[in-house]
Amino acid sequence: MQLIIGSHVSFSKDKQMLGSVIEALSYKANTFMFYTGAPQNTNRLPIDEHLTQLAHNLMLNENINIDDVIVHAPYIVNLANDKNKDFNIDFLTREVKRVEELGVSKLVLHPGSHVGLGIEKGIENIIDSLNAVLTPDTKVTICLETMAGKGTEIGSRFEELKAIIDGVTYQDKVAVCLDTCHINDAGYDLDDFNAILDEFDNIIGLDKLYVIHVNDSKNIRGAKKDRHENIGYGTIGFNNLLNVLYNDRIQKVPKILETPYINTEEGSFAPYKFEIEMIRAKKFNDHLETDVVADNK
Ligand code: FE
Ligand code: FE
Ligand code: ZN
Repeated sequence: MQLIIGSHVSFSKDKQMLGSVIEALSYKANTFMFYTGAPQNTNRLPIDEHLTQLAHNLMLNENINIDDVIVHAPYIVNLANDKNKDFNIDFLTREVKRVEELGVSKLVLHPGSHVGLGIEKGIENIIDSLNAVLTPDTKVTICLETMAGKGTEIGSRFEELKAIIDGVTYQDKVAVCLDTCHINDAGYDLDDFNAILDEFDNIIGLDKLYVIHVNDSKNIRGAKKDRHENIGYGTIGFNNLLNVLYNDRIQKVPKILETPYINTEEGSFAPYKFEIEMIRAKKFNDHLETDVVADNK
């Protein structure tokens, strides 16, 4: 089975998406995800047409399908709370434009935190803002991410995501990104991923599952924490993650790693090349840190 697998990569000022493709290829990935600027702020530079063209040419040569590539919206955009509503709508509208200019079709977005307003009001706010952003001409699908349920986060139950989608006018422009660490922390049992897919199918519909974030978790099921762990090193475990990665019901859905960098005295290094290698080999690598550090010498 042909895995569509990649990781979070950077998007630099000088190379933009061309740099992202080159980084993804260095991990032997066939897709990737990036933020169009820093994840924690909304400062964004214009998209460079020439660099975008070079990135597309390289992807064509290397058999990376642009439809599998993902952009993640900055996580400070909070549509659930009506504070900064106009700014958020304006930013997201411009972000959708940038994503369209890049030729990318999927934008992952955290639904947001209601910060005391309550889930129902939070969902209403998200719907209002999405309806202000999406038009009949929008080419990007906004993929609402399943959340861990930390604090007042919305989207830790499939029912909440379904309620958002139901309220959106252009429903063909909204889908879901399922994050394995987040659903574990929200209480879903990854020992039986097929049961999770059944539930997702019953509530939302599997055709709405556009992206999977494959992460292990530092915390036990139901902890509502959201701390990612390297593949096979957390509470979900290598075999359960393989069952997600190789499940034939979601074969065509891109799988993206957002596992933590390996931090040592020598520096901080991306683990993705070796995580992708162990996933392809279906064999757990119990010396990930050693391999990653040696590779960066
Ligand atoms: Fe996310
Ligand atoms: Fe995620
Ligand atoms: Zn997370």
